[in-house]
Amino acid sequence: MLGQMMKQQLTISSLIAHAARYHAATEVVSVETDGSLMRSDWGTVEQRARKLASALEGLGIQKGERCATIAWNNTRHLEIYFGVAGAGMICHTINPRLFPEQLIYIINHAEDQVLFLDKTFLPIAAKLGEHLKTLKYVVYMGARDPEVAAMIDGILFYEELIAEGDDAYTWPDVEENAPSSLCYTSGTTGNPKGVLYTHRSTVLHSLGGNQPDGLAISARDTVMPVVPMFHVNAWGVPYIAAGTGCKLVLPGPGLDGDSLVKLIDGEKVTLALGVPTIWMGLLQALENSGSTAASLTRTVVGGSACPPSMIKTFREKYGTTLIHAWGMTETSPLGTLNNLLQKHDTLSVDEQNKIREGQGRPPFGVELRILDEEGHVLPNDGASQGELQIRGHWIVDTYFRADKSTLTMDGWFDTGDVATIDADGYMIIRDRSKDIIKSGGEWISTVELENIAIAHPGVANAAVIAARHPKWDERPVLVVLPVSGASPSEKELLAFYDGKIASWQVPDKVIIVDALPIGGTGKVLKNKLREQFGDILMPA
Ligand code: ADP
Repeated sequence: MLGQMMKQQLTISSLIAHAARYHAATEVVSVETDGSLMRSDWGTVEQRARKLASALEGLGIQKGERCATIAWNNTRHLEIYFGVAGAGMICHTINPRLFPEQLIYIINHAEDQVLFLDKTFLPIAAKLGEHLKTLKYVVYMGARDPEVAAMIDGILFYEELIAEGDDAYTWPDVEENAPSSLCYTSGTTGNPKGVLYTHRSTVLHSLGGNQPDGLAISARDTVMPVVPMFHVNAWGVPYIAAGTGCKLVLPGPGLDGDSLVKLIDGEKVTLALGVPTIWMGLLQALENSGSTAASLTRTVVGGSACPPSMIKTFREKYGTTLIHAWGMTETSPLGTLNNLLQKHDTLSVDEQNKIREGQGRPPFGVELRILDEEGHVLPNDGASQGELQIRGHWIVDTYFRADKSTLTMDGWFDTGDVATIDADGYMIIRDRSKDIIKSGGEWISTVELENIAIAHPGVANAAVIAARHPKWDERPVLVVLPVSGASPSEKELLAFYDGKIASWQVPDKVIIVDALPIGGTGKVLKNKLREQFGDILMPA
């Protein structure tokens, strides 16, 4: 033998073991379902995760079996993440905002054995109970509570389960390619599809996504994932947090701007992550409260396109750098993150902001390419626009319980997004291929039109949809949710596009609404808007 290096498996238990070994006293703070603050630390989280693992084994749950959660971002949820996966079982996080039929489908399809629930979601389980074929145990994420016991027959109590767990339990050997967690896409069309992550993909995602040009989380940070733990594993932040030993703040059910301001200031959060709608709420609350969010140096925004005005406001008013990121359930999710290069240092602030508007560059571990409609690879010239494909260590190959790989013949995953990529690898999402507007053979990006509308002072949120058109096939229609108290007119809103885009791209019509339909992961449901307004330009 020429020599050899150690062969250690890349496992999720190794992340939490690291946190306990070197950052035991670092705090994990969480907001409970009743609004109270719970303080724990990495040492305690790891110990309780091991006890949970041993208790689950005691219940007869086997390696590879699924344990589901319907829960907020809180410490018990974190313990379940590590306890379940650490024991070699699969942690299946479920989005509570799905329709009941989707929940039933998902839980049965995953063949979940155990379901952990926060108090808020007990009624869901009580209602769905008889339809859930494979569940053996329902566990309430709290101490014994007679009211809860009366709601669901035979329900177990998390704190009692932990108390029964073995203090001396050690993490078992788990093969790195074994599955560790499961997350279903929200399935706006057809049945939701499950993405089954492995220990290896999760650890590599944590390492790759947390490079200095990525999330760059260190032990000195206080990190608050507002993105739910049921939404692509809170973008992997729980694993990254354990691997770095940063302080973690879990906001529980209070996702409104005021609650977030209180937590940011109270816990001195340095980095917070979430979808744009969350930050719209936060910015409004900051404005009203007079807080300057002094500790907050970075926010990460992803899940849908970040309006340029948000980047500017964070930077100019609060000194917070906004990192725009892109990804999907199928990509674990970190696919690109937007940080600047050295050569951008000499640019003006406006020019830097312009670069930050895009979705950024892939970290080591993933690659991107764009293709035209005939399947030819397009150049990375910042202008050619095509179907975005991705491959890498933490990208899906085959959906959960699917018979065949979902990849292209040459091994890439087709994202369903339309993008450009420039010579430095900066990627810009122009649209989702199903949202983009095809007007008389030309494409119009709905994202671009929305970004302009959102910059109007009277607009709280906006969505642009393709409406059928007798002459042009499709034309853009702007749906606007005004800022409360404001009533911008159609004329004024359309005039706002003057000089910002070509005149043929300006929407044909503006519709003012009281509310936009928002899906389970905080995104505007454009298919619902298309159902409602898709024929508004057609002759009656
Ligand atoms: P879904 O919304 O289909 O349930 P995901 O949460 O996995 O599933 O969403 C992935 C999609 O969200 C991407 O394909 C892309 O269209 C969109 N998306 C994510 N991040 C961004 C971003 N920063 N800018 C624009 N679109 C984004």
